[in-house]
Amino acid sequence: RRINSLSTSSAIDEPISPSIQIDHTQLLINGQFVDAASGKTFPTLDPRTGDVIAQVAEGDAEDVNRAVAAARKAFDEGPWPKMTAYERSRIMLRFADLLEKHTEEVAALETWDNGKPYEQAANTEIPKVVRMFRYYAGWADKIHGLTVPADGQHHVQTLHEPYGVTGLIIPWNFPLLLYSWKVGPALACGNTVVLKTAEQTPLSALYVSKLFHEAGLPPGVLNVVSGFGPTAGAALSSHMDVNKLSFTGSTATGKIVLGLAAKSNLKPVTLELGGKSPFIVCKDADVEKAVELAHSALFFNQGQCCCAGSRTFVHESVYDEFVEKAKAQALKRVVGDPFKKGIQQGPQIDNEQFRKILKYIRSGIESGATLESGGEQLGSKGYYIQPTVFSNVQDDMLIAKDEIFGPVQSILKFKDLEEVIQRANATSYGLAAGVFTQNIETANILTRALRVGTVWINCYDIFDAAIPFGGFKMSGQGREKGIYGLSSYMQVKAVVTPLKNPAWL
Ligand code: NAD
Repeated sequence: RRINSLSTSSAIDEPISPSIQIDHTQLLINGQFVDAASGKTFPTLDPRTGDVIAQVAEGDAEDVNRAVAAARKAFDEGPWPKMTAYERSRIMLRFADLLEKHTEEVAALETWDNGKPYEQAANTEIPKVVRMFRYYAGWADKIHGLTVPADGQHHVQTLHEPYGVTGLIIPWNFPLLLYSWKVGPALACGNTVVLKTAEQTPLSALYVSKLFHEAGLPPGVLNVVSGFGPTAGAALSSHMDVNKLSFTGSTATGKIVLGLAAKSNLKPVTLELGGKSPFIVCKDADVEKAVELAHSALFFNQGQCCCAGSRTFVHESVYDEFVEKAKAQALKRVVGDPFKKGIQQGPQIDNEQFRKILKYIRSGIESGATLESGGEQLGSKGYYIQPTVFSNVQDDMLIAKDEIFGPVQSILKFKDLEEVIQRANATSYGLAAGVFTQNIETANILTRALRVGTVWINCYDIFDAAIPFGGFKMSGQGREKGIYGLSSYMQVKAVVTPLKNPAWL
């Protein structure tokens, strides 16, 4: 039986061999794949081994200039904002169909570059990406302003217009999902795009953006620049001709990006940042279910989720039972090569994250938390870490304060609601929370008291395209997804005309 081990013989070891090929490693500018102006490339690595998968063009400021110029032209002169919204919608729908048809190749690239289980990519994530594009394609021709009853002397209407060139910067943990959260609404509103992918995961965005062009997207509407943050990312954030910025990543980088936007042309910025989300298990919770969901809330995607339920608060009356079951669940977690069947957890993204997580685990042990399971590297190559559970975690320990972004569950004990509300809110983050209770009063109290952008009650990580997502406090600014996500990509113009007959509004 395979328990947190990399080599055994069972059905689980059966390899999955999706068709996989790397067609595109250059920058996508004005509908063409081109080398970086500097001619430089950088390696993208396989997290299973640390080996090089491919060399990818390394874009920097000069390439960002070229991409922004192409996006500007496509916005000012090109067909995109001028074509009917229905036509834009049709192109987005055709793209969604093509993407669905190529799920296998796209999921394989995502797994190879990121390390996430192939079955998760193919069965959950790529379908969510497809759904997101269909959702926003549906909105494209339903965006409209209002007629406003004003002073009775004027006819007042509002137009909802695109910003122009949008700069989109995404991280490596959900490369294509976050691509869809930003590119979908930006294009639906009629903007053009320059996308900066994460340096760890450049491959899938290039592949699917090619499909977008096959679906009829005009050149220059969607440009993709692979490269590093301080060069390509900073150039995009401070570009004078980018009219709107949307960033997902760490809070530290979010501050830099916001500063660059302010110092350049004051472009508005949407930020989706880090979190330290509480998962609160009340005394009347269904403990079995809470254990199961607290486990997936933390360990899903190798623990590399901005909204990971990384502070598991459990009521003292069910604490011991919960810890016992959480430990058993972690010991059962199937870790291994993400290209094999039944794998629940692959390797961490890279050596840097891997070392950082192991350091946090050491700090948990040194600060006196009880290590219930895991705590070590798995195997000798690649970036695999045992599913790790700590109990007796105190609020002032680093593992309870910092975003670990790895498979490390911290279980804390609480006595009453007032106390857990105060402790859950005692963080600079405010992304999400889970509330587990059978009592509607308790659910209502917690829902309103928690200073977070999403509360999941008796569930976790429900991410439909229509559900808005974003952070309170230092977890972000603005919202993505759903109808709220659209407003990040359009601005309101008021149009005022005198009325000849004031009685007629
Ligand atoms: P990161 O902030 O270092 O990188 C994110 C992106 O920003 C990458 O594309 C990177 O190249 C770019 N970048 C880095 N420095 C930059 C700079 N000076 N100027 C412009 N761009 C720059 O984050 P990471 O370590 O790659 O990702 C993990 C972090 O992202 C975690 O803290 C996690 O919480 C957060 N995250 C948040 C969400 C969310 O939706 N709130 C989603 C995913 C990840």
